[in-house]
Amino acid sequence: MAALLYHEDFKLHDPSPYEHPENPRRLDLMLSGLRDYGILERFSAPEIPLGDVGEYRLVHSEEYLRRVASRGLSEVEWLDPDTYISPGTHEALKRLAGAALLTVDSLVGGEGLVLLLPRPPGHHAGRDGAAMGAPTLGFCILNTSALIARKLSSRGRVSILDFDLHHGNGTQEIVYNDPRIQHVDIHQDPRTIYPGTGYPWQTGGPGAEGTKANIILPPGARDDVFLEAARLAVNLIRGFDPDYIVVDAGFDGYRGDNYMSSVSLASPSYHELGVMLRGLGRPIAVVVEGGYGSGLLEGLPAFTAGLLGLGDPVGRDARRSVRDVREKFKAGVEELLEHLGLKR
Ligand SMILES: [Zn+2]
Repeated sequence: MAALLYHEDFKLHDPSPYEHPENPRRLDLMLSGLRDYGILERFSAPEIPLGDVGEYRLVHSEEYLRRVASRGLSEVEWLDPDTYISPGTHEALKRLAGAALLTVDSLVGGEGLVLLLPRPPGHHAGRDGAAMGAPTLGFCILNTSALIARKLSSRGRVSILDFDLHHGNGTQEIVYNDPRIQHVDIHQDPRTIYPGTGYPWQTGGPGAEGTKANIILPPGARDDVFLEAARLAVNLIRGFDPDYIVVDAGFDGYRGDNYMSSVSLASPSYHELGVMLRGLGRPIAVVVEGGYGSGLLEGLPAFTAGLLGLGDPVGRDARRSVRDVREKFKAGVEELLEHLGLKR
């Protein structure tokens, strides 16, 4: 049986009285998507202990952690124009630290699949906050997937796959010089969307060259292009031969999920990616990142069904990209392979 990790405390990170797309209702959407398609009952739900936010020292600077700890203590405060912190955020983060440790212990203990539904999300949070020159933290505060990957990397090789619509700049920055952690990121062309980072020539720092890969989806990308990106990502992971896989699973590229997105994908794409990852035969930790509506209600259950070896329970129609988009995508892949020294 696989393990599903979430906690009511994750809802204490709350923007009220402000309106914000990253709000406690997202956890309900994730759970109702999984429940509606019969996925929830496939998981055990172990109790998550309270953890210590100090665990995040493995991926964030002391100074940044102190800054987070000092903000939003009596009312909602804005860390930047995108990102709020509320009095309850601190409790949520403690529970999230506990969830990260439980995820690591579960995988090391032989669990094949852990699905973590965290709040707040984390993949834009770099060592000192906003990462790689990004303007903001993009709703993220502490980087849970990077923490999980770092912890697992003392036990073996780790691949991180991020398929959120936005580049996982925080995670990539944190692991950039670490040869034990591969980071493969599929995202919309950074010239067209936040955070404006994640290019094909960024392939890892000194001693870690070739362990980072940015696979770019041109605006207008549909399911055919996404599936090619997914196949390439899975091949790169197979080549790295990891002992563990951490997935930053964002569903904001799902059709109708994100009004700012110009990528539009359907359930078979996410399902097929889940099937491919399952085929790698390694323990997998999935950490949900973006997704605000239909992506959580349909994309998340489709992806999870694939990971579990079930059929696509959602069954939307996949669509094809126009030729210009397919050609732009191909050119980006050629450029990436060249930078990785894999040019055919
Ligand atoms: Zn996103």
